[in-house]
Parts: sequence; structure tokens; C-alpha cells
Amino acid sequence: MTTYADCSFCGGEVTEKRIDYDYRRQAHLVVISNVPAGVCGQCGEKYFRPDILKKMDETYHDIFDRNQKPQRTLTVPTVSL
Ligand SMILES: [Zn+2]
Repeated sequence: MTTYADCSFCGGEVTEKRIDYDYRRQAHLVVISNVPAGVCGQCGEKYFRPDILKKMDETYHDIFDRNQKPQRTLTVPTVSL
């Protein structure tokens, strides 16, 4: 379990949780589940350890550059307001 500094936005307590995270870069989006993240109990801001950020980046490249098959694929509705 990682200890996180208090939230830099609101000063709230940040505790580690496992979350689903929408990792998006340019036109590509990959939904990564079970991501360890520090989540602020007051405002919900999320903080990631550097090794987790690196893992998510590698996952992105595995899927979009190295054609690794994801566990499943979602269809996402897209609209413009
Ligand atoms: Zn906060």
C-alpha cells in the first residue's frame, strides 16, 4: 500500500484505491481496469505513482503500436454538442 501526500488541490486525505481509468492520448483511448491510484476523499482528484503511469503508457503502446489484443473491446458512443 502506497502512502500519498495530501491532495494538492484541496488538502484532503489521499488513499489508495483500485480504479478503472480512461487512458487517452490523441485519438486513442484504452480503458484500464484495476489501476492502483491515490484518490482524494474530498474532491476525487487522482494521483498515480510513476511506475503505474509507465505501465499504463506501455499498455497503450502494446495495443496501438504493437497490436496486442485487448481483453475486450467496447463500443463508445460519440456525440458533439
Ligand atoms: Zn482533493
